Amino acid sequence: MAILHRAPWVLPISAPPVVDGAVMVENGMIVAVGPYRHLRHGKHARLVEHEGRILLPALLNCHCHLELSGCAAMTDREVAPAHMPAWITELLALRASRSGEDDTSLACAVLARQHADGVALLVDIGNGLRPAASCHDMTRVDYYTELLGLSRQATLLALQVMQDHDDGHNFTCHAPYSTSAALLQAVKERAALLRRLYPLHVGESLDEVEFLATGHGPFRSFLEERGVWDGSFAVPGCGPVAYLERLGLLDELTLCVHCLHLDEAEIDLLARRRAGVCLCAGSNRFLGVGRAPLAEMLAVGLKPCLGTDSLASNPRLSLWREMNILADDHPQLDPALILAMATWNGAEIVARSELGRLAPGGSAHFIAVAYEGSSPLEFLVREPHVKDVYWV
Ligand SMILES: [Zn+2]
Repeated sequence: MAILHRAPWVLPISAPPVVDGAVMVENGMIVAVGPYRHLRHGKHARLVEHEGRILLPALLNCHCHLELSGCAAMTDREVAPAHMPAWITELLALRASRSGEDDTSLACAVLARQHADGVALLVDIGNGLRPAASCHDMTRVDYYTELLGLSRQATLLALQVMQDHDDGHNFTCHAPYSTSAALLQAVKERAALLRRLYPLHVGESLDEVEFLATGHGPFRSFLEERGVWDGSFAVPGCGPVAYLERLGLLDELTLCVHCLHLDEAEIDLLARRRAGVCLCAGSNRFLGVGRAPLAEMLAVGLKPCLGTDSLASNPRLSLWREMNILADDHPQLDPALILAMATWNGAEIVARSELGRLAPGGSAHFIAVAYEGSSPLEFLVREPHVKDVYWV
């Protein structure tokens, strides 16, 4: 039997907000969305009232590292490390000290919290071959094993790992400053063949930009100190996106995460190649690495999605908080655009058209959020307090 969900506000995302709206669902799918006064006279349906709540699609968290859920000590403090290489050094030391720990329950707790926050799908990246958590079957986890290595030896080892695993595994690369050109290209080639997403960190810090442009700076020192600099890396002498373009890695399945330090031509290039962009404002704020050039991105037609990153660089993994930080960083921005980043933009990037919007054919697995006030968009995006989320 069909069910008619009625609420004071319905936010379809793909259409303007509806006052006194309703969503008709049948057999796990949305069959109609619109004003209650229109839908009430349709087919016979059981009415469910969501008084004092907003109906909207579930959220998509497009960047996370659940395997770092045991590294919350990295963000449980006032001051972040001085720069990215210092943060990575600390993180590697902490991970090494925890190598005997089983962090599965911590990762599961993070995933359960994501579900409680209304997240339907999470793009998770880790160094292991298996996800740290797939313990909460209500939130889908798309897991990617991350390969990296700049030296010849590290490249060969990583390529071997990829060759040893069947097509059921998703592989991706860490970042242009940590992964050799040969490895970046080989992993992308496989991902393109299998029509898989290729998410990687791009333009996260000025140290990365300096390293790619000159081959020097804190990242060079970091690599030398760790004994992984063998001189084989050909310094690109350009920005991170220009470098990816030169390697032929930009297309609609490449998801560039962070994208803080790009020049105008690189932002334009992302748009022309229809590449995905994922913003992690909470992580960027904690690490003090800067803000995304969001106005410039939107001006060329990019439609960024959002990610929380991990507890190692973000003290709270909540897409509601991510939206709030973005609204704070970019006060001129329409809150409807920010909400679309946490919903439909992510669904488009991961090619899951049944998610991210309330529309016929969409998933009946959506959410209701308790609210007070007159503007639901302002409430959801700009109000900093924790949201009461209910799965419909
Ligand atoms: Zn990340």
